[in-house]
Amino acid sequence: MRFIYKPSNKYDAPFDPKRCAQNVFWGYRGHQCTRNGKYPDEDGILWCKQHHPDTVQKKKDEWRRKFDAKQMASSAKSERRDAEDKFCHGVSTEFLKENSLSDILERDA
Ligand SMILES: [Zn+2]
Repeated sequence: MRFIYKPSNKYDAPFDPKRCAQNVFWGYRGHQCTRNGKYPDEDGILWCKQHHPDTVQKKKDEWRRKFDAKQMASSAKSERRDAEDKFCHGVSTEFLKENSLSDILERDA
């Protein structure tokens, strides 16, 4: 998603085609990015390195990858907790505190 600066009233600065086209927000208003437009996209619109659509997409993909990894870790943790709950169902906390898992398994073997 590209946010290209467009003046919304006569007080806004005109669009400068030599600068990065990104609409950045500060002071409750949109402004054109102050950096030079060095990197054209497929439509020939100029961007700074930070706001180039490819960079933005890469950042989004990286965020998504980290988010998914966190979700996977969290669901693995909760699966393990569920399995532990099932394994210990009906066993008193005192018994679990007094006996190690290896002792219990050895006893049953
Ligand atoms: Zn920029």
